[in-house]
Amino acid sequence: MSDYKYHRVLLKLSGEALMGSSDYGIDPQMLERLAHEIKVPYDKGVQIAIVVGGGNIFRGLAGAASGMDRAQADCMGMLATVMNSLALQDCFERHGMMCRVMSAIEMHEVAEGYIRRRATRHLEKGRITIFAAGTGNPYFTTDTAAALRACEIDAEILMKATKVDGIYDMDPVTHPEATKFDSITYLDVLTRDLKVMDATATALCHDNHMPMMVFNIEQPGVFDKALRGEPVGTTVVEEEC
Ligand code: UDP
Repeated sequence: MSDYKYHRVLLKLSGEALMGSSDYGIDPQMLERLAHEIKVPYDKGVQIAIVVGGGNIFRGLAGAASGMDRAQADCMGMLATVMNSLALQDCFERHGMMCRVMSAIEMHEVAEGYIRRRATRHLEKGRITIFAAGTGNPYFTTDTAAALRACEIDAEILMKATKVDGIYDMDPVTHPEATKFDSITYLDVLTRDLKVMDATATALCHDNHMPMMVFNIEQPGVFDKALRGEPVGTTVVEEEC
């Protein structure tokens, strides 16, 4: 455990991270890979909280674009995150990791309700704690839920797992000449409109001095390396060092 720089982390997984190579839903192989990644620091006693998105199943904005009421569509998006959370919990438990799902929307038969003090107790007892249903409010994203929960549980860092190995000055998929930042300030993320996290989440981290890191979860061992303080991905800092 002393090898680790961070001892309590909030990991944000996008819904896409569960999709693997498919274009919808949950890929069981991807769940297995995630479980292997997470088990290494889990076994060493790192306290791991997770917020998972729902974009692999349903996004409120897409529903609104096709004519649905936005708040109603967002409720569907939040329910999608619950399905992802249950899938992760099932996989983690099969790999011998204790895990609790806490939902921001009450659904007692399916998951515990979110209570901050109970969440930190779960973490202290070595249970991976998954925060489902985002913030419980429409018009928000799971990035914002991740920033909010990271602050609430006193996480030392918010790690955002994506399919890109850090933050670039432009989209590296469409611009091969894009340059990667090793570190960048919150202010730069906001003013350059880098779309790595939504502005609400970035501002919340900035205002509450919550460090943030972005890396590619598809690189084997990257989560463990990040927790050990090794230079991976991009770190978002308050001021340029
Ligand atoms: N959502 C919401 N409030 C929240 C979090 C999420 O209404 O606090 C809804 C919203 O419709 C969003 C969907 O849940 O599109 C899935 O979340 P998100 O898009 O953040 O997932 P990700 O992109 O990380 O897969």
